[in-house]
Formats: sequence, C-alpha cells, structure tokens
Amino acid sequence: MTETRARSVGNHIGGEVREAASGGWFENRSPTDGELLGLYARSGAEDVGRAVEKARAAFEGWRLYPAPKRGEILYRAGALMAERKEEFARAMSREMGKVLSEARGDVQEGIDMAFFAAGEGRRMLGDTVPAELPEKFAMSIRMPIGVVGLITPWNFPVAIPSWKSFPALVAGNTIVLKPAEDAPECARLFTQLLLDAGLPEGVFNTVFGLGEEAGAALVEHPGVAGVSFTGSTAVGVSIAREAHRTHKKVATEMGGKNAIILMDDADVDLAVEGAVWSAFGTAGQRCTAASRLIVHERVLDEFTEGLVRAANALKLGDPLDEGTDVGPLVNEEALRKVSGYVEVAKEEGATLLCGGERATEGDLSKGNFFRPTIWGGVDPGMRIAQEEIFGPAVCVIPVSSYEEAVRVNNGTPYGLSSAIYTRDVNTAFRAMRDLYTGINYVNAGTIGAEIQLPFGGTKATGGHREVGQQALDSFTEWKSIYVDYSGKLQKAQIDEV
Ligand code: NAD
Repeated sequence: MTETRARSVGNHIGGEVREAASGGWFENRSPTDGELLGLYARSGAEDVGRAVEKARAAFEGWRLYPAPKRGEILYRAGALMAERKEEFARAMSREMGKVLSEARGDVQEGIDMAFFAAGEGRRMLGDTVPAELPEKFAMSIRMPIGVVGLITPWNFPVAIPSWKSFPALVAGNTIVLKPAEDAPECARLFTQLLLDAGLPEGVFNTVFGLGEEAGAALVEHPGVAGVSFTGSTAVGVSIAREAHRTHKKVATEMGGKNAIILMDDADVDLAVEGAVWSAFGTAGQRCTAASRLIVHERVLDEFTEGLVRAANALKLGDPLDEGTDVGPLVNEEALRKVSGYVEVAKEEGATLLCGGERATEGDLSKGNFFRPTIWGGVDPGMRIAQEEIFGPAVCVIPVSSYEEAVRVNNGTPYGLSSAIYTRDVNTAFRAMRDLYTGINYVNAGTIGAEIQLPFGGTKATGGHREVGQQALDSFTEWKSIYVDYSGKLQKAQIDEV
C-alpha cells in the first residue's frame, strides 16, 4: 500500500509553500478504494492571518495593474488549463469520485471562465448617464473590494474556484482560497496553474484545512473585505451571519431540491434519459441534481417503468474507467446520510422501486458506492421530497394538473433549478414564468450551466448569482462619479437651467 509514501502538501502563501503553523495535517483519501492520496496542511487562524496579510500587501500593486493586463494573465491561465485538462480531470475523479467524462466537463467550465473573465479585463462594464446640469459628466465605475475569501465545495472542485477566482482577479482583488477538504489536490493544481500563468506573489493564496477551523477563521478575519461561499445551506447561513457582523460583502450559493416536471404530452423517452442523468450524474451530488420527478398521472406508469429500467442498467465502478456511469459517494458520511434517508422513506410510507442500499460486489466493497435509488408514491410534504439528500436518490411525485405540478415544484425551501418536459409551447412558456427557481430547463434535464448565463437560485439557495453578466457583482463595489467641468458656482448653474 502507498500509505507510507503519502505526499505532504503545504499552504501556498505569498508565493511560498508552508506547513500549517500547528504542524497538523489532514488526510485526503480516495472514495473509490480508500487509498491515502496525500496529507494536506490542517490550517488555523494563524495561517489564515498570514495569508490575509500577504494578500493585503499584494492588493495595492494588483489593483493598480491595468485590467487588460490582468486579463492577459487569466488568458494564459485558461490556455494552461486546457493543456492540463486531463491531469486535472484524473486528479478530480480520483479524489472525489466524479466519472472522468464529467470531470473533463468540470475543467472545461474553468477554461471557459478564464477566457470569459479575461475579456472582462477590456470591458469592466461601467455606465455613463446624462447629468441634470450642463457641463457635467455623470458615470459609475466598478471598484475592487480588497482581499476576498473564497470558500468552495468538493463537488465542482475546478469549476467553482474558477467561477469565483477569475472574475475576482480581473476586477483587481487579491484572494485567499479555502478549498474543500475532500478535493484539496484540485486546489493545489489550480494554485500552481495561476502561479505558472504569471500571477504575482501574494495575489492568490491557498490555505488548506477544515471548515470549522480554517474556513471559520477566514470569515472572521477583519482584513477580509468579502466572502464568496458555495456549499450547504446550513454552513452558508452561518457564514452570512458572521460576515454581516464583521461588515463584509458576502455571497452564498447554497443547496437545492431540484425538480423535473413531466406533463401528459411529454416525450417520455426523452424525459427518462434527462431524468436519469439529472438524478444520478455525479452520483446525485450536483447542486442542480434532480431529486424530485413531478409526473402527470397519465404518463406515470410508462415513465416510471422506463426510469427504473434505465437506473438498473447504470454501471457503478471506478470513475477513472471510461465505461463507468456512476462513481462513489464522496465519503463515508455521505453514505451514512443517504442510507439514513432510505430509513426515513420507509417510515414515511414511500415505495422503494429500486436501489436503496450500498453496492458491495467485488471491488465496490472498498468504496462508498450506493445503488441508484428511486421512490414511488411520494407525497410532496415528505422529508425525502423536501430535504436535500445529495446522493443518487430521487422521488417520483404523481400530480394531475399543470397547476399542481407548479405548486409542488415551488413548495420547498430551495429554488435552484427546475425543468419541464412538454410538447405544448404555451405550457413551456407558462412554466418559464411560473417556476420560481434561478434556472429553468425546457425539454432538458437539470444538467449543465453555461458561464455566459447567471447561475444561482432563490430562497434557501441564496438569492445570489455568479458568472454571466453578474460575474463581477460579488467582487466589486459600484462608485458613482460626478465631474463638473463648467468652472461655475453651483447656484449660477442652477439659475441658468
Ligand atoms: P459544505 O457546506 O459542507 O462545505 C463547503 C465549504 O465550506 C467547504 O470548503 C467547507 O470546508 C467549508 N465550511 C464548512 N463549515 C464551515 C464553517 N463553519 N465556516 C467556514 N467554512 C466552512 O458543503 P459541501 O458538502 O462541500 O458541498 C455540498 C453542498 O454544496 C450541497 O448543499 C450543494 O447543493 C451545495 N452546492 C451549491 C452550489 C450552488 O451553486 N448553489 C454549487 C455546488 C454545490
């Protein structure tokens, strides 16, 4: 076993690699077979403080470096990421269990974001507006906010740090990243990439560690001007509270309880395919994963049969094998959580249609594999239909009308994404109006996001948006500017008009 040879990876602070001040480490283990992949610095407040200090020192130079030049560095980062795509994707599959094709898609999001943000360096959209008085300019510009703390989840370990870092950097901020403890190697590769692309020392710093230690220290630090977080709603709410208390700008992208609606005129084959990938892609561990299927009773039997057949045909296995459809859950805690919901479903009276248990045949016994799980006859008020499970488990909820489908869709605390399958163009447009989620899909599953569109959701999902035209919003403050070039007294100007 390679356990004794495990690599130790320190923090990247001010261009140096350093151990945690405490000398502590945490383990990164493969969810596929439990192999120890590396030891990463278990940082605390002292390490975070050092990183913030370096980032603050670098801010003065970086904010004055011309935005188009900042963009050029990001352009190089995007090109390098394209060259290293396979290295990133394989590290991702190995450490967090996403199948290779999905891991490549995750890295592609990072590449797209780098090029998109690089272009912002030559736009940095501002406004000029008419002034009430003659000989006066009125305009607004974006200012960087300072040191931003980024706290990211493990499920999109390249895409999400890219969504946050690239806009923050092009706007002139400096960064301290606290990546998820279940995907630290992707963060190490990401940090090295930025240094190789030519980012000056101290502009981007990475502090590894646990959420309640390094993450909490970053949110509390008075030298941090803004925090951008993606992760669970419980953690996001506590971060937002602390950030408000310490006067930080804060954005929280949180959980989802996404649904796909099937109307009675839906193309059922299309919907089965969309639902399978939306529910079981990344083993259901995507924030947009479909975990409720709201199905018109007239197509219920046909759809459910097709869905169960397709779910049973999915191949579980090593995410590095190209033939694998579904990899492992990220860690044992996730396995316990999903198993717990199987018990909840039983108590609530839902019907288990397939799955519902850990998969242990052959090599699967070494990892956190869970069979794709479908419950039928689910009532929208049940816990399994209300709470984010974050695993390969989906509820089928029968409905008898469009109005009921919309009510069920909107009837959870979350509001990230929803989809509708219908052949009726009027129903499709009505749904775009009525579904109260940040993202709607029509005749497509709740999969995928394009970085030129805003991403985020309503209610307990957070109400913030990142990427798209909103990409700079979390990382800039607007400043309004009046320039009076008349040389006249205010009173004289007013009398003239
Ligand atoms: P998580 O909330 O457990 O952890 C996210 C990050 O927060 C990690 O880096 C963690 O170390 C850190 N953290 C934990 N406790 C902290 C604390 N007290 N103070 C500061 N930082 C702390 O989430 P996760 O398990 O990594 O990710 C899964 C969750 O993320 C799901 O709920 C999913 O829906 C959500 N998610 C949302 C989006 C979105 O855009 N809305 C995208 C991806 C994932």
